Amino acid sequence: MFTVEETWGGVRYLVTHHADPQTIYDELNREFWDGKLPRYVVRFADDDHPLPNVPGEWPLGSCDHKKRLITILATAQMHESVGGLRGVVAHELAHVAAPDDEHGARFQAALRRMTR
Ligand SMILES: [Zn+2]
Repeated sequence: MFTVEETWGGVRYLVTHHADPQTIYDELNREFWDGKLPRYVVRFADDDHPLPNVPGEWPLGSCDHKKRLITILATAQMHESVGGLRGVVAHELAHVAAPDDEHGARFQAALRRMTR
């Protein structure tokens, strides 16, 4: 269990997590890809490492292929409609499995492989 700091509307919050997104990434990679996908560093966004703010992009996480870095919104666990924290990590891992596909057919197939 660990805590990250996020500032919302000028107020600083401590967001406590019961799972580590890096562990979830490594487990999904092992379970569904025989560990063959490259290991990206997966961390929560915090005040020192904010999510890149790109208009029109998915706001819950981002995947930087050049840096092999995935950043997850600190409050991802609250987004049940996309499967919570595990769902957000799976989404970003699908980008690793299907680079240069945006949210196309190969991406969708990679995501289904982990979430069915
Ligand atoms: Zn995406």
